[in-house]
Amino acid sequence: MSWHTDDADLREYAAGALAPPRLWSVETHLAACADCRTALGSHVPPAATDLGWARLDAALDAPRPGPVESLLIRLGVADHTARLLAATPLLRGSWLGAVVLTLALAVCVALAASPLMLLATAPLLPLAGVAVSFGPGLDPMYETAVVAPMHTFRLLMVRTVAVLATTTVLSALASLALPSLGLAALGWLLPALALTSTGVALTARLGPVLAPALVGGAWAALVALSRLLASGTPLPFTAEGQGGAAAVAVVATVLLVAARDRFDSGALPGPSLRSSRTLRSAARRLS
Ligand SMILES: [Zn+2]
Repeated sequence: MSWHTDDADLREYAAGALAPPRLWSVETHLAACADCRTALGSHVPPAATDLGWARLDAALDAPRPGPVESLLIRLGVADHTARLLAATPLLRGSWLGAVVLTLALAVCVALAASPLMLLATAPLLPLAGVAVSFGPGLDPMYETAVVAPMHTFRLLMVRTVAVLATTTVLSALASLALPSLGLAALGWLLPALALTSTGVALTARLGPVLAPALVGGAWAALVALSRLLASGTPLPFTAEGQGGAAAVAVVATVLLVAARDRFDSGALPGPSLRSSRTLRSAARRLS
C-alpha cells in the first residue's frame, strides 16, 4: 500500500457521514488494508463494536429454512405460515413415506384383487394426517403451537389444508395406476373431503384423538357393510354415495365454522389442546 486513508475520513466513515465518491475509495481501501481497519476501530465506540458482533452471532445462529419452508416462501406463503406448514408432521419425510407406502400397497392390492382397496384407503389418509398433525405426542411443535399467539382454529385450518392438498395429489397419482376404472378411480375424493371435514368438526366436541378414530372406524364399517350386503359397486362409490359424501362434507364444514370459537376458548375435551399441564411444561422448556 502506497497510501492510507487519512484520519478525518476514517472518523467520518465511522460516523456514517462520508459521502461518495470518497466513501467508495475508503471502503475499497479498508477491505484490503488491515492497518486502516485497525485505525478505524479507534473511531468506533467499543459498545457499538460489541453490538455488531452480537448481531453477526445472531444472524449466524438463526435457523435456516428447510427445503419445504424455502419452497413455500418462494411460492408467496407468509414466512410464519410457511414455518407452521413445514413443521406439520405429515409433511416430514417419515410420515410422507408412510403415506406413499400405504398408497403403493393399496395400488398393488387394487391391481391384483379389487380396486376397492385404493378407494377405501385413500379417504383415510388425510383424516389420519390431520390427527397426527394436531395430536399431542405426535406433533413436535405441539407445545409451541399451543402457547403461540395464534388462533388454534387458524393453525388447524392451515395444517388441514396442507395435509388435504398433499394426500389428494399423492392419491390422484396412485389412481393413475388404475386407468381401466376411468373417472371411477377418483371415487375416494369426495369421501376424503367428507371424512376430513367431519373428523375436524367433531374434534371440537370429542377431542383430536377420539374424533378421527370414530370417523375412520365408521368409514371402514360402512365400506365393509355395503360390500357384504350388496353385490356390485359398494354404496360409497355409487352416484348416490358420492352425492351423500358431498352433502356430508358441506354440512360438516358449516358445523366446523360454527364451532370455530370452541377451538380457541380452551373448551376442547379429551387430551386438551390447552391443558394447564401442557402449558406448564411448555413454560418450563421456554425458561
Ligand atoms: Zn491503509
